[in-house]
Order: sequence, then structure tokens, then C-alpha cells
Amino acid sequence: MVIDNATLLIGIAFSSASLLAALVIGWLNARSETYLVLGATGMALVVMGVICLGLPSDTYGLVQHLLPYSLILGGFSFVYGGSRRFRNPNASVWQPAALGSFFIIVIAVPFFVGLTGIGVILLNITAAILLLCCAYEHWQSKDHPHVALMANALLYAVTAASFLACAIVLIGEQRWVLTAPPKNWAEDFNSIMSLVGLTGIGALTLTLHYARAAHRHHTEANTDSLTGVLNRRALFDRFGSGRQPNTTAVLMFDLDHFKQVNDRMGHAAGDRALQRFADILRQELRQGDIASRIGGEEFCAVLTGVDQDTAQTIAERIRKGFAELGLAIDDNGLVATVSIGLAIPAKDEEFSALLSRADAALYQAKNGGRNQVRLAPLRLVA
Ligand code: GH3
Ligand code: MG
Ligand code: MG
Repeated sequence: MVIDNATLLIGIAFSSASLLAALVIGWLNARSETYLVLGATGMALVVMGVICLGLPSDTYGLVQHLLPYSLILGGFSFVYGGSRRFRNPNASVWQPAALGSFFIIVIAVPFFVGLTGIGVILLNITAAILLLCCAYEHWQSKDHPHVALMANALLYAVTAASFLACAIVLIGEQRWVLTAPPKNWAEDFNSIMSLVGLTGIGALTLTLHYARAAHRHHTEANTDSLTGVLNRRALFDRFGSGRQPNTTAVLMFDLDHFKQVNDRMGHAAGDRALQRFADILRQELRQGDIASRIGGEEFCAVLTGVDQDTAQTIAERIRKGFAELGLAIDDNGLVATVSIGLAIPAKDEEFSALLSRADAALYQAKNGGRNQVRLAPLRLVA
């Protein structure tokens, strides 16, 4: 081999240490992302183990080898805990901790009875199991970017395969007792994969962390925090000045006498009414339809792939659904209701023009006594 093992071990230690620092910095900026600190701790243990292995030693012994191997297995179990937390922030880390501790005992027993080769074989197998568990967690994660997740899963799996290869070669050669570190193609493959794998996994984990943060910020910037539907900005970003096909329908909603809801029941009850109304929108709209809160107690929905009758039926269902919720605003049983303006685009009508017509229809619904749906008359676009 062109590069000797000691140089590779030093390379692994340095690359892991710099990634470890990057993971810790990432965690300091986002303390709730515990998978970063678990991953960093895991890497720190692996680096310590790798440095110990790099120290010159003539024999195979408990301190020279069992200690670093235990550090590496402990490190991989932390990385596994981090992978579980990456997929599910509430995942327990007890399972990885128990698995790691059990594996350390499994490799320690043969070392204590002098069967160092069997100890190393078991080390390679248990390390591979932990890494395959990490690969599984990433593979199963429904997050994005999907390509980075799959690449991470692949790196874990190939690194696991390199550990398994070391075990298989030792078993094939029946080396139950080792007096010197084994030297074969599998060990070289494992050293290279440890360098490539750890560096790549660390870098991809950081990429995933920042991609996730960017996605969260984008979602927050486009979502109304009280009701969870899109906000005004997101609605206009999506439809802007674009022309709409006549299979689109725009519904404008304004809750009736909402000032009274606040005055008589308090602002918190008003907020709950807004949330219940958003629930009804989510319940009645279909996939592909858009619901947005465009102002205080004003909402807008854009339905796609509908004709006028269907749009009217959906608007009626929303109106009835809200009235039937029976959000009483005083002892006389007065209920919160909604007025709705509906507009279907004329040929290639612009979104803003469509919105104005829906708004005018809403005004008609208010003047007509509220708690009703009004259809905007079709205005032909020149
Ligand atoms: P109308 O039937 O004519 O629409 O009467 P209205 O009282 O609903 O109309 P108006 O526009 O005068 O009142 C809207 C009220 O909505 C005033 C404001 O206090 C309330 N509001 C706006 N945003 C919020 C909010 O985030 N939470 C709560 N609780 N109330 C809000
Ligand atoms: Mg209003
Ligand atoms: Mg109102």
C-alpha cells in the first residue's frame, strides 16, 4: 500500500477532529438539535480510540487495544443515538447506549481470556452492526434533501462493509489469537473507508443540518403562526400576477362581527375561533387547494381543478361547518359565522383581478345579511 497505516490513522484523527468542531459549532447555534452533539461526542470518542491505536505497541493487549476498541464502539453507539435523534427528535438514546455497552462486554471477554483475534473479529462485527443501524435510520428518514440522506446511508453501509470484510478475512485465516495488528487488503479498505466515511458522513450531516434549518425558516416565513395556514406573503408569492385557468376558484372569507367575539369573550377566545376556522378550511379543502390567512379575520382559499358548482358546494360546506361549530359568543347563543365571496376566473384573468372580484362578492354577502356565500358576476377580460 502507498500510504502506511499510521499516516492514515493520523489523517482519520485530524479530519474527524475538524468535523467534530464544525458539528459542535452547528449545535451551539441550534441547541435543540441534539443529534449534532451526539454525533460530535461519538466522533470525539472515535478520534480518541484511533489516536490510541496509532500509538506504537509491540503486543496485543488490554490497554493497547481493548481500550481504543471500546472507545470506537462507544463512539459508534453515540453516532447511532444521533442518527435516531436525527430521524425522530424524541427518540430514546437508551437503546444505542445499551447496545454499545453490551458490545463492549462482548469484545472484552475474549480479550480477557487471551483470544485477542476473536476479540478483534467481534469488534469488527459489532462496529458493522452499529454502522448499519445508522445507515437504516438515514435510509428510513423521510426528511430532505433526499440525495444527501441516501448518500449518508450509503457511506455508513460501505464503512460497515469494510469492518465486516476485516472480520471475514480474520475468520478465513482462523486467526483466533493476534500478536500484531493484522495486515491485509480488508484492513487497508477499512482504513480508507474510515477516513472517507467519517469525513463524508460528518460533512453530509452538516449539509443536512443546514438544509433542514433553511427549510424550517422558509416554512416559518410562509406560515401564519396562529392558524398554521399560509400567510399573505406566501399566497402572493405563489399566485402573484399570474393568470388563472377557469378551473380555479377564489374564495374570500371574513368572519362576521368578529369584533364582538373579542369584546364579549376575550381575545384568547377570538384566537381560538380563528384556529377553529382554519381547521375547517383544512378539513374541507382538497390536496392541491391553498388556504391562507391574509389579514386579521380574513382568509382566502384558492381551489384548483373545480367548476363553479363544486366551488359553491365547498364554500357552502365551509360556511355551514363554521356556523355548526356553535362558537357561542354570549349567553343568548349567538354564534360566530363567516361571509364568503366566490369568484371563478374569466378567460386568463389575473390573480389580483380575481381577488378583487371575490372581495366585491364578499362585500355583497356582508350587505346581504352575513353568514352566506355570494358568487361574483363574471367580468370578461378584453
Ligand atoms: P364584520 O361582520 O363587518 O366583518 O365585522 P367585524 O367585527 O368582523 O369587522 P372588523 O373588521 O371591524 O373587525 C375585525 C376584528 O378582528 C377586529 C380585531 O380586533 C379582530 N382581530 C384581528 N386580528 C385578530 C387576531 O389575531 N386575534 C383576535 N382575537 N382578533 C383579531
Ligand atoms: Mg374584516
Ligand atoms: Mg369581519
